[in-house]
Amino acid sequence: MTQSHVAVVAFPFSSHSSTLFSLTRAMSSLAPSSHFSFLSTKSSLASLNSQHLLSNISLVPISDGITSPDHVLSHIEAIDHVPSHIEAIELFLKSFKDSLREGLKAAEIAQGCKVRCIVSDLFVWLTADVADEMAVKWVPVRTGGPLHFYAHMHADLIREVVGVGDEAIRSYGDKLLSFLPCLSNHRATDIPAGINMYMGNPNFVYFMIMDRSAHRLLDSDVVVLNTIQGLEPTLDSYFQDKFSNYFPVGPFYLLNSSKNEPPTDPYSCLSWLDQHDQATVAYVSLGTIAFIHPSELAALAKGLEASDVLFLWSLKEEVQNLLPSGFIDRMNETGKGKIVSWTPQTSVLKHPAVGGFVSHCGWNSVLESIVGGVPLVCRPFFADQVINARSVSFVWKFGVVLDERCFTEKGVVKAFDVVFKTNEGKKMREKVHELKYMVTAAVEENGSSRENLKRLVKYVCGF
Ligand code: UDP
Repeated sequence: MTQSHVAVVAFPFSSHSSTLFSLTRAMSSLAPSSHFSFLSTKSSLASLNSQHLLSNISLVPISDGITSPDHVLSHIEAIDHVPSHIEAIELFLKSFKDSLREGLKAAEIAQGCKVRCIVSDLFVWLTADVADEMAVKWVPVRTGGPLHFYAHMHADLIREVVGVGDEAIRSYGDKLLSFLPCLSNHRATDIPAGINMYMGNPNFVYFMIMDRSAHRLLDSDVVVLNTIQGLEPTLDSYFQDKFSNYFPVGPFYLLNSSKNEPPTDPYSCLSWLDQHDQATVAYVSLGTIAFIHPSELAALAKGLEASDVLFLWSLKEEVQNLLPSGFIDRMNETGKGKIVSWTPQTSVLKHPAVGGFVSHCGWNSVLESIVGGVPLVCRPFFADQVINARSVSFVWKFGVVLDERCFTEKGVVKAFDVVFKTNEGKKMREKVHELKYMVTAAVEENGSSRENLKRLVKYVCGF
């Protein structure tokens, strides 16, 4: 008999749902007599690796808000290089509460058991209203970088001190934000664009999500973070003081033991890496949604070709078509680089041949880079990426940020020289190995993330 029925609600865009699914698997394996209903849109559920489905998890589809099957999403030019999925997010959020109520009802009927607690991605903060209606606990989970959320939680103060708009940011210059303890190594240009309404439209849906969810979080007494106790000690103290139930249980993807599962590697990236010497290959990936302008893509390709470092590049097929003509053939013929539409990234980063990672600094990529012990070359775009890139280069010191935060041929060659060939690069490798030790120890038996996960399971399942 099911002891407790827990609903988990995903934000069905970018890497959010797969990250939350990792946490769900980890919770469900510690609570075999409880049931976990994982709610997301059909397409997001289909993208999950359901070979990992345990018998006490069921996938429950909810509407994506697109009412007509013929609906074609228009291509809205959004700021910060975010392409047309913005409209999909807006449609999803518009009908979200009704869709969620229906999904929860269906889950309760299917399990013959009332939901006792709703865990949700913080990005679907509206879940809290539905949990209130049902008089059950809401447990918000931040899947991405926590410091970015901390900044949003202090948006009013930041606006008051730094000011609002491009000019205010410029005149604040490179001064550190020492009025906020957790951001005392960051500058005004590192904080999320939406806070100061600079760089474009203040009604942009991402800004709205961050703003609303940060406010909602301030009312909560519980938070789950995809981070590791000790990685950002000042941030730990803040969250510990603010939330009576603070669960840093990251990295979520390491909570599930997958030692016996061979990685899915449809393009044979790992056997290609096997042919190369230690730390001679740069891995390049800009995550699942960052959009790179074709002229910058060409500059990156030129830099990769001009540098004498080998590379493995994960690049979606439709974007591969935008590469300079002849580039892919040349790289294949010379063996200089391999370009594929998907890699088993966590395994790639652990491969000894990989000596550097060119990344947009999405939070999962940062954590995976630490676990792989690989220094980063950072090209952040939006959301938490800018703040993460600053932490990587300035606080943790295991990477460099490209000049002007964008790809140029010379910039790529220069960054590779630093990371692969200099003493500075060697020091970065040492730094990232120190962090790797801390992070991997946290998920081992009795490690902090493991212990916090046990506490979290007790909290959500009620035993
Ligand atoms: N990823 C992967 N293979 C690829 C590209 C990406 O496995 O070829 C995974 C990567 O390991 C990471 C996620 O996609 O877990 C990207 O998440 P991140 O938070 O870094 O960026 P986002 O896509 O959310 O911007």
